Amino acid sequence: MPTSLLDDMIGVGDMVLLEPLNEDSFIDNLKKRFDHSEVYTYIGSVVISINPYRPLPIYTPEKVEEYRNRNFYELSPHIFALSDEAYRSLRDQDKDQCILITGESGAGKTEASKLVMSYVAAVCGKGAEVNQVKEQLLQSNPVLEAFGNAKTVRNDNSSRFGKYMDIEFDFKGDPLGGVISNYLLEKSRVVKQPRGERNFHIFYQILSGASEDFLCKLKLERDFSRYNYLGLDSARVNGVDDAANFRTVRNAMQIVGFMDHETQSVFEVVAAVLKLGNIEFKPESHALALCSASGVCLGREPLRYCGNLKKTWAYYARDALAKNLYSRLFSWLVTRINESIKVLKKVMGVLDIYGFEIFEDNSFEQFIINYCNEKLQQIFIELTLKEEQEEYIREGIEWTHIEYFNNAIICDLIENNQTGILAMLDEECLRPGTVTDDTFLEKLNQVCATHQHFESRMSKCSRFLNDTSLPHSCFRIQHYAGKVMYQVEGFVDKNNDLLYRDLSQAMWKASHSLIKALFPEGNPAKINLKRPPTAGSQFKASVATLMKNLQTKNPNYIRCIKPNDKKAAHIFNDALVCHQIRYLGLLENVRVRRAGYAFRQAYEPCLERYKMLCKQTWPHWRGPARAGVEVLFNELEIPEEEFSFGRSKIFIRNPRTLFKLEDLRKQRL
Ligand code: ADP
Ligand code: MG
Repeated sequence: MPTSLLDDMIGVGDMVLLEPLNEDSFIDNLKKRFDHSEVYTYIGSVVISINPYRPLPIYTPEKVEEYRNRNFYELSPHIFALSDEAYRSLRDQDKDQCILITGESGAGKTEASKLVMSYVAAVCGKGAEVNQVKEQLLQSNPVLEAFGNAKTVRNDNSSRFGKYMDIEFDFKGDPLGGVISNYLLEKSRVVKQPRGERNFHIFYQILSGASEDFLCKLKLERDFSRYNYLGLDSARVNGVDDAANFRTVRNAMQIVGFMDHETQSVFEVVAAVLKLGNIEFKPESHALALCSASGVCLGREPLRYCGNLKKTWAYYARDALAKNLYSRLFSWLVTRINESIKVLKKVMGVLDIYGFEIFEDNSFEQFIINYCNEKLQQIFIELTLKEEQEEYIREGIEWTHIEYFNNAIICDLIENNQTGILAMLDEECLRPGTVTDDTFLEKLNQVCATHQHFESRMSKCSRFLNDTSLPHSCFRIQHYAGKVMYQVEGFVDKNNDLLYRDLSQAMWKASHSLIKALFPEGNPAKINLKRPPTAGSQFKASVATLMKNLQTKNPNYIRCIKPNDKKAAHIFNDALVCHQIRYLGLLENVRVRRAGYAFRQAYEPCLERYKMLCKQTWPHWRGPARAGVEVLFNELEIPEEEFSFGRSKIFIRNPRTLFKLEDLRKQRL
């Protein structure tokens, strides 16, 4: 038991040891630690991380050496301890690992994922070939961040997509390569950004960093304000050098293995998206004509499309095309990076994905993100309990039943193939006749009205008829982490995600080979009358694949918390932290962790620490450590039901027992 876990001054390092356990004590403990620059705290093997919003001197090569090859509880809580544990289990015990990082925007997920990757890169094999692999893996970050991140109100470098990266190792533990999966890029940002936010970084980087010559080739102008899609407050971001970042990105693309002509093509598509946004439609023409006059020239030929569309539809179609073009480019980038880094051996996965989101207006995006978090919570419960059970079996300890809330029922409300919300949304989207968000809500009311975790006011028999806090155009879900109200407006449209078939065909006909490749369904020879999968069902399928992947691995958790809304150092806002603790389900975490035995420790270190409390074991115990601990616990008259002897460890049920031992120890010192 390292002192760092039980120091009164800086709070307990492991929440499992917190007495009494409640929300207030939980927050107090975090705050105490935060004020002492201790940004990491454990819940058993889970790491809670609070964003310090300032550089801390705890990620140096010396720190890496300090944590290297040390046991998890030996030093003060650190993300490196978790990284080391995961890496060593992978290398020595051949267990695939995954690292699940969650938290709200700005909480420090992406930084955490980079810290894990750089720690692993620092401690795993050496040599020219291995170094090249490491470089490629690490350099995929700046590429994806340029195309998938943006400045938002919450975070100047906010990831607008979910990312899962498997890093693959050979039998010696040297890295061989990796595979990246991306989830739900927020493509609406391409055409419109909330006030005070920017479009994806790459647009500003190109305009700021490309040479005159290159800009001229792309038919772009340097001035941001020339482009409708760059919004009104597309100002520069403090502390962000777009031009320098452009060079970093190009360099990273080269290291990852992009050929020059590929890089060129990618930037041509980015330029085309920007120019699409400037196309205007004259009221009299009533036609959508994307032609060379507006400067959208894809390859040698101008892009031409003429159809009969009403003016508002023309703009809608233009924006849909821009969003599709960009998000397909993004997926293509991921696939392309994977081609460079793919192999298959032992793997360590790192998942950096949006945490629970609750805004004033929650729409389809929040619904999908929160669904993903329900699934992650489910896997957390399953794997934690499974791990507990396996350890009990390994240690020959009797299995005690653990009470916990199983959120499978909420997952079912969302994903059930017949009665789930996603299935009903799909059914509405496919149904002939007038489909609106209201008919969708009406349908939900028919099917879900009696579900324990569903609330709405539209249906007459609703239990919530008089609940005025719930508007008629909304439904509410009681998620494991709390209630969230969703506004139905836009659900049908966003799920449909329709692109006019004519536009796909026009794109496919483009002489630009990358663009052609991005729209395979535009090939008239391959016309598929089946409707493309909806956004919801695509997401559901990719979440299912992710879950299957995670289930085969040993999980490691990092839960990130944002201490304030100001992106500022040293400020700890209790209410904000409290909100996140709830949405991350952290108290539930602690409860699951200590439902059986709160604490366990190998016999040797346990005896070493407490042998001074008993005449027979002090100063030396000659027999096996286990027998020594037995004698010790006997002499101290610790009630039998409070502990169990496993094969290699002592299991202590209640943290109080541990505190008692610690107190006794302090008295003797
Ligand atoms: P998220 O991915 O959760 O939205 P980020 O990882 O992008 O959040 O973090 C937001 C910002 O907070 C970063 O750009 C950085 O300035 C700061 N930050 C995050 N983690 C740390 C850390 N461990 N040390 C110092 N600053 C950090
Ligand atoms: Mg991020």
